[in-house]
Amino acid sequence: MKVLFSSWQDVIVDNRGKPRDAWDDAKVKLPETYDGARKMTAFMGWGGVVILDEPFDIVEMAANYVKALQKSSCAKCFPCRVGTKVMEDIFARIVAGKGTAGDLAQLEGLCETISRNSKCGIGQLGPGPIVDSFKYFKKEYQEYVLGKKRGPGYFYPNKTTAPCTAACPTGMDIPLYIEQIKEGDFAGSLATIRTASPMACSLGRACFHPCENNCRRENVERSLAICKLKRFAWDYEDLHAVDKPGNPNRHTRPEKAAVIGAGPSGLSAAYYLLLQGFHVTIFEKLPTPGGAAWTGIPHYRIPKDVMMREVKYIEDLGGEIKYNVHFGKDETFASLRAKGFKAFFVATGGDLSKAMGVEGEDKNYQGVYGGIAALKEIVDFTIKDAVPNASAKIPTLAKPKKVLVVGGGNTAMDCVRSWIRLGCKDVNIVYRRTKKELPADPHEVHESEDEGVNYCFMLAPTKLVADGSGKVVGLECQKMEMGPPDESGRRKPVPVPGSEHLVEGDMVISAIGQDCDIFFLKEVPDVKTTKWKTIITNEETFQTAVPDIFAGGDVVSGPLNLVTAVGHARRAAQSMGQFLRGETVGISDEQRMEKVIATIGVYDKNEKVPMPGGWPRQEMPICDRQDKIGSFKEVELGYSLEAAVDEAGRCMRCYVVGMACVPEGASK
Ligand SMILES: Cc1cc2nc3c(=O)[nH]c(=O)nc-3n(C[C@H](O)[C@H](O)[C@H](O)COP(=O)(O)OP(=O)(O)OC[C@H]3O[C@@H](n4cnc5c(N)ncnc54)[C@H](O)[C@@H]3O)c2cc1C
Repeated sequence: MKVLFSSWQDVIVDNRGKPRDAWDDAKVKLPETYDGARKMTAFMGWGGVVILDEPFDIVEMAANYVKALQKSSCAKCFPCRVGTKVMEDIFARIVAGKGTAGDLAQLEGLCETISRNSKCGIGQLGPGPIVDSFKYFKKEYQEYVLGKKRGPGYFYPNKTTAPCTAACPTGMDIPLYIEQIKEGDFAGSLATIRTASPMACSLGRACFHPCENNCRRENVERSLAICKLKRFAWDYEDLHAVDKPGNPNRHTRPEKAAVIGAGPSGLSAAYYLLLQGFHVTIFEKLPTPGGAAWTGIPHYRIPKDVMMREVKYIEDLGGEIKYNVHFGKDETFASLRAKGFKAFFVATGGDLSKAMGVEGEDKNYQGVYGGIAALKEIVDFTIKDAVPNASAKIPTLAKPKKVLVVGGGNTAMDCVRSWIRLGCKDVNIVYRRTKKELPADPHEVHESEDEGVNYCFMLAPTKLVADGSGKVVGLECQKMEMGPPDESGRRKPVPVPGSEHLVEGDMVISAIGQDCDIFFLKEVPDVKTTKWKTIITNEETFQTAVPDIFAGGDVVSGPLNLVTAVGHARRAAQSMGQFLRGETVGISDEQRMEKVIATIGVYDKNEKVPMPGGWPRQEMPICDRQDKIGSFKEVELGYSLEAAVDEAGRCMRCYVVGMACVPEGASK
């Protein structure tokens, strides 16, 4: 990207004085506008200083950046707390035109002392761009000292984040909740988690943890067990019957909000709406809450009795869940509007199994299932003792000799691992690509192999085959081979002509993806949808084109994951709150900065982190093998207090501050 100046990651690009068409590229990518409308001319943060263009005021920006550092200093280590305060005061003098040459020297010394002696990212990485500004903008500082100041006229939005936090769709303050575990403040840790998600139990057990892929500890030896520590905080409260925080705003406002779907997204939106004082009713078509986290994720990964307690907390805060209400049939937008509901959050997920598109699929053969329906039956079957009355009807499960599961994603993994637990000895994945391309979580693949699942790679189904009585006896499949590279350079699997053959099996499960069932939108044609039958919303506010209808989770993103569904809900509930209070619906400057920071990227996998390695990650204990493959008991047993505190100790608190310079009144 062409910029006027950049010191990002110690690569200096200095185009000052050069004609624009001779500018060199910098090693950083930034959005050209701050919010799609206003021009951003500079950025200062953990990697250095970037000047995109004139106008800017480096000294005033540095002064504001130091102020933000000071605000973010946790005050636990002296060099950062006091050092940044002294720097803030000196900068205030300089900006007021009362600085001296001595001040500049003192600032340089302070930067070095703070970054060398501080215990976390704010102090260690924070002073870096200030040092760069002294080094490469000396003239501007001297002009200030001589009283020739340029500003004001700039706006400096900023955000404190961390590589892990920036990767989390809920924006959770991960270093803080880890620190609280380290200090033994487990209730405080859970309270921190709950500011970003009420689903610590489910997320702590099944989140795909994008945060851990951004953990700087990975550059030292291995990433922190962020996800499992979240579970520890929740388990601690649950196991020790700790009093849960109440809702001081319970029903303090008259407005009623309706949430459609009691999955992770709907439950989370309800939670944030309740905390804002609204009356919230969730309408759920099933007799159980939790959405795919209940019906899809098996009991051995998220025990449903435990999840029930997670849901009960949301009810205890004032939420009501009306079960067995199929929205679009039993209730509609019009009927609920007539009952006084002023805003809607549609979180109906995607629970229709995609068809395989093979011959015979329309024949309703016995023994052929969609992955979602199969898992739901298994959950209903396995929880019948764990959660009394959770389900209206306990199914009688089929007892197949050989199961074929088509697909390689997480639904496929949950299907095969469940059938192993149900005692089937011959459980197979049929997948049209190689192991390398399996979209499932590698941990799940590893576990399934360990439990005895057989993989048939480079095999694509073409036809369902049944006997005379309409019972499925197998799947006709075609071998695949890697074809020539396409325009993008990727080689795609292509069928081998004449390689069709029968793969026998008395149960076939299609687990190749899900579609959303949004039939109820017929009533509101102004709500726009995509060709994949997902709902289109404003990306920032999650408001649809119909002002009182908001949407989030899988029904917006398409089938994705728990943490994104929760992240959508958090943001949507904020927007719904604004709408219900009659305010302008929009996001804050701090939230806007998340996008700016995401464009730059906070984590650098090649960074050499100056920290001695050798502090091993605490492994999560698991149940014994017999329980693992012979029952639906939870596999992961949770951390002991000692293990959790030790693991939390590995966190390096990699907080960073990013700040943009936006000229006042500027437009694109
Ligand atoms: C088998 C499987 C395994 C998965 N494993 C993981 C995992 O390990 N980690 C992870 O992060 N993600 C996983 N996911 C994905 C994750 O579960 C979803 O992304 C997440 O649950 C989406 O939440 P949601 O609230 O948007 O939708 P859902 O969870 O689908 O919830 C939607 C809710 O709306 C209800 N509903 C639908 N239509 C109506 C209607 N018309 N009226 C009333 N109610 C309605 C549904 O019954 C459901 O309760 C998995 C998904 C599946 C299917």
